[in-house]
Amino acid sequence: MRSLSRKVASLEKSQTLALSARAKKLQSEGIDVISLTAGEPDFPTPEIIKQAGIKAIQENFTKYTANQGIPELLKAISIKLQKENDIRFEPSQILVSCGAKHSVYGALQSICNKGDEVIIPSPYWVSYPEMVRLVDAVPVLVKTSPENQFKITPTQLRKAVTKKSKAFILNSPCNPTGAVYTKDELLALATVFEKTGLYVISDEIYEKVLFDGVEHFSIGSVNAIRDQVITINGVSKAYSMTGWRIGYLAAAREIVEGAEKLQSQMTSNANSIAQKAATVAISGDLTAEIRMMVGEFDKRRQFLIREFNSIKGIEFIYPKGAFYLFFSVKTYLKSVVDGKKLKTSDNLCEFMLTKHHVAMVPGTGFGNPDWVRMSYACSMQDLEKAVERLKRGFGELAPD
Ligand code: PMP
Ligand code: GLU
Repeated sequence: MRSLSRKVASLEKSQTLALSARAKKLQSEGIDVISLTAGEPDFPTPEIIKQAGIKAIQENFTKYTANQGIPELLKAISIKLQKENDIRFEPSQILVSCGAKHSVYGALQSICNKGDEVIIPSPYWVSYPEMVRLVDAVPVLVKTSPENQFKITPTQLRKAVTKKSKAFILNSPCNPTGAVYTKDELLALATVFEKTGLYVISDEIYEKVLFDGVEHFSIGSVNAIRDQVITINGVSKAYSMTGWRIGYLAAAREIVEGAEKLQSQMTSNANSIAQKAATVAISGDLTAEIRMMVGEFDKRRQFLIREFNSIKGIEFIYPKGAFYLFFSVKTYLKSVVDGKKLKTSDNLCEFMLTKHHVAMVPGTGFGNPDWVRMSYACSMQDLEKAVERLKRGFGELAPD
């Protein structure tokens, strides 16, 4: 047999998806594993959105659509961006894709050449560096500190820029840290973007999952860099629609055109039925449903903050958005389990999974091997059980 693709061989599998699949497999084997892996809201998709999907099927809206997306969805997105984000883009400057993940990839393909550098603050969402490598560009990871809530500063950003820099990936609210940049922080970063001309891929998928009264600000609304910013969003998190696979990007027409061309050769349009449902999600009034979901996430977040504050040696930042708790297990590394030292959070997560039946994602995939990500998009009951088990697990390990 001839050799296979080197690029694919060197690609990392998405750790979030791999671990969530592993937890599901153990559950199907009858093991009572609590999965705090993939970030996926545990609520059903709201009823009016489901009805729109059912109606689409009944009306035989089951054929290819325009590659770019159906006009009513493009229009709904354009209105939403203007109303909620102060971003003014025509429907022609929007591309609907098969999830925000697909949109991020389309954006990178549209702007990157071989050897271009893409700056990514670390910790980062698992897929960013791998997607950058897939488009033959180079991820430049900039380590941020828990003291600054894992947010990159303008000075750090300036230092990372070279002649080869092409783009920056911004994710606020952030997966995995839950950090949310304030408007002032983003305006300060925007001045660096304006000076350097970098493209900004602003992944705003968690924009509606916010706590403690913090507000979301879209960097794409800053006029001076308007044409440099590619705003990415979707329906997965805000409307509990992860399986419907609808995301979008909004940007200057040339960028959209590139991603659109690519999509026309790869997937064609996003699912027709899901596009109808997403139109209702984005143009309808789902304030009450979103408030209910975010309210539940907040109860779980507060429960975790209380509980984790009482676990010796655990450090974490208070998440202000998204639905993850990112915590340091550094003081527990070097503990000995079955005669072997726990070296990284991978070993610690393996210990918690195999011995205590709680699945979490090690920080390795997010750029912080001493940290662990826990998703609290699960029921309170499961979360209470998981915390009990984790406390037992940590109790068996000796913090430094
Ligand atoms: N960006 C971030 C930061 C995410 O956590 C996710 C989670 N899936 C996505 C993008 C992709 O979302 P989707 O493809 O489901 O729209
Ligand atoms: N974004 C979610 C997560 O980080 C879903 C899994 C994925 O798309 O990687 O868990």
